[in-house]
Amino acid sequence: MRFTFVTLFPELLKGYFEASILGRAIERGSFAVDFCNPRAFTEDKFNRVDAPMVSGGAGMLMTPQPLYDTLQHILDEDPEAHIVFPLPVGKPFVQNDAKRHAKQYRHIVYVCGRYEGIDERVIERFADECLSIGDYVLTGGELAAAVMCDATARHIEGVLGNSDSLHEESFESTLLEAPAFTKPVTFRGSAVVSEFLKGNHSKISDLKKQMALCKTQYFRPEIIKKAEA
Ligand code: SAM
Repeated sequence: MRFTFVTLFPELLKGYFEASILGRAIERGSFAVDFCNPRAFTEDKFNRVDAPMVSGGAGMLMTPQPLYDTLQHILDEDPEAHIVFPLPVGKPFVQNDAKRHAKQYRHIVYVCGRYEGIDERVIERFADECLSIGDYVLTGGELAAAVMCDATARHIEGVLGNSDSLHEESFESTLLEAPAFTKPVTFRGSAVVSEFLKGNHSKISDLKKQMALCKTQYFRPEIIKKAEA
C-alpha cells in the first residue's frame, strides 16, 4: 500500500515515518510513503501558492492552480489513487474508516491544507472523501493526515509485530480497552490487580470485561448508549 502526502511542508512529516514501528514497516516494504509539494507545480512567477479570499475576510487560501496540477499529475500516474481531504468540516474519521481504507485502497493521497484552507473548487473536483480528526482547528492538514495514515497503516498486514493486539484494542468492540499493567507487580506502593497474577484466564477475561465496561461508562458513555440503541 502507498500513501502520498500533498503538502507544502513535507519536513513536518518525514521524521514521523522514519522511526519506530512505522519506520521499520516501511523498511520491510509493508507500505510506502511519499510526498508531493504543490509549490513545485505553481505557475506564479513569485512561486506563490496562496492568495486572499475573494469574499474578503481574514487570512489567505491555498490557490487552486498548484493543487489542481499536483493532483492531476498524481491521477495521471495512478488513476485509482483515492484522494482524501483532511478538513475540520469533514465527516469524523473513526476506526472503521482506518480499517476500510487499509482494506479497500492501494494508494491513498492526503491533501494537506494550510492557511485558512483550500479553494473549494479543488475539493469539489478531486475529493473522494473529506474527513475530520476532531472538532477543533489545526494550523494545517499534516497532523490530521499523519493521524489517519498511522491509524490505517496499523491494519496493513505485517505492520504490527503481533496482529493479535489489533483485536483486543479500544473501538474493536463496544467497549474501550481494559486497564493494563506491566512489571513490577508493585510500583511505588501501588500493586497491580492481584487476580491478573493467578493465571486463571477465564477469570482474568471476565475481570477485564468488567473493567472495560467501567472505563467505557466513565469516559465514553455514548458508546454504550449507541450499542444499546
Ligand atoms: N478555515 C478552515 C475552517 O474554519 O474550517 C480551517 C482551516 S485550517 C486553519 C487549515 C487546514 O488544516 C485545513 O485546510 C485542513 O487541511 C487542516 N485541518 C485543520 N483542522 C482539522 C481537523 N480537525 N481535521 C482535519 N484537518 C484539519
